[in-house]
Amino acid sequence: MFDQVDFSSLELPVSARKLQQEVREFLQAEIAAGAFTRHLGHTEFNAEFTRKVAARGWIGMTWPKRYGGRERSYLERFVVTEEMLAAAAPCAAHWFGDRQTGPSLLRYGSEQQKQRFLPAIARGECYFALGMSEPNSGSDLASVKTRAERAPNGWRVTGQKVWTSWAHKAHAFFVLCRTAPDSGNRHEGLSQLIVELNAPGVTVRPIRFMNGQHHFNEVFLDNVFVPDDMVVGEIGQGWKQVTSELAFERSGPERYMTTFPLFTELMRRLGTAPDARALEMVGKLTARLWSLRRMSLAIAMTLDPGPDGDNGVARATVDLATEAALVKDMGTFYEREIIDAARLLSEVEPTPDATDTFERYLAETIVCSPVSTIRGGTTQVLRGLIARKLLGPLK
Ligand SMILES: Cc1cc2nc3c(=O)[nH]c(=O)nc-3n(C[C@H](O)[C@H](O)[C@H](O)COP(=O)(O)OP(=O)(O)OC[C@H]3O[C@@H](n4cnc5c(N)ncnc54)[C@H](O)[C@@H]3O)c2cc1C
Repeated sequence: MFDQVDFSSLELPVSARKLQQEVREFLQAEIAAGAFTRHLGHTEFNAEFTRKVAARGWIGMTWPKRYGGRERSYLERFVVTEEMLAAAAPCAAHWFGDRQTGPSLLRYGSEQQKQRFLPAIARGECYFALGMSEPNSGSDLASVKTRAERAPNGWRVTGQKVWTSWAHKAHAFFVLCRTAPDSGNRHEGLSQLIVELNAPGVTVRPIRFMNGQHHFNEVFLDNVFVPDDMVVGEIGQGWKQVTSELAFERSGPERYMTTFPLFTELMRRLGTAPDARALEMVGKLTARLWSLRRMSLAIAMTLDPGPDGDNGVARATVDLATEAALVKDMGTFYEREIIDAARLLSEVEPTPDATDTFERYLAETIVCSPVSTIRGGTTQVLRGLIARKLLGPLK
């Protein structure tokens, strides 16, 4: 059964280790200069920091040079992402463009779209959000109701998106919508359009986290005009396009490392002579982290076309949906276990405005802990997907 999933073994090449050191030094200097405050739970939006990361060549780094990329390996990108998470760096401005929108545009976008958006994303000047979920269409994405009607030279889009992270700061978002009536096959008749968030007819309203933070939104689209040149890929192929992004969305270090800084603070707090219970907990968590990292790295390596590859176009054709679902499911539970260990091994009453970093991180992660097993696909949905691949369809 398990020969159906592939997590090949690997070692980080020298170039990746060199880059890792470079990123660490950059982040240490930024932290020392007070360039950002480290927060856990979700990554912060900091346009200035994003521009500095871009200037280093770490956004769109696997993309072709002609689109502003650096033609570096996917593994090197992995290393950068991992270091950003370990430092709780504020990457929200470029997170989606770098991880999802850029690769999607590379694969499906028109030449005009690639030239317009990719270099701007890589420069850290253009931010994208993701417009998939709707009220009653989250896990069941194929049931989206937002529709686009044909208009002269374009489309008129009407509907509502929800949980749209950073739509209040992004320039544009990919909208999954219905461009043809339901034919009985719900995966047909869907398309992806690029909608600019300042277009007439777009209204963005905040939905605040329980701690008051403004991370995501509901977005209303009222007869919004989208010109033909903002259709991504082919009309009617939206389902295939949107699902091909999922291995990128689910397999990266952001699925098991968002509470990692709490783990390092916990170890600092435990000091050099932890008791037997603490040793056992920390040992188990460290071993699990190493396994998850290997799994995630194995996916990054498989997605990586290598030095003679095609600059990221072919990798999107590799189907690693099951492997990616495994990483996300195991990774997000692992993140919660770090919080549980921190609560059990410390006797603090955490508050978000504590001056002690451990206490602040603990408070932030407790409040945000429900999000990780929901965003990017819920636990139940991922397990259904894994079971179908490993066990086959129900007879
Ligand atoms: C922090 C955060 C950020 C997000 N950012 C974005 C974003 O930027 N853009 C965007 O488009 N979306 C975003 N989302 C939305 C996210 O993708 C959805 O919340 C998620 O897909 C679940 O959909 P839902 O909320 O509609 O829940 P539902 O799909 O209604 O699920 C409710 C419950 O039913 C269960 N369930 C549903 N279907 C099945 C099934 N077939 N089998 C078993 N159980 C099932 C689920 O597991 C869940 O427990 C974000 C969510 C969060 C929490």
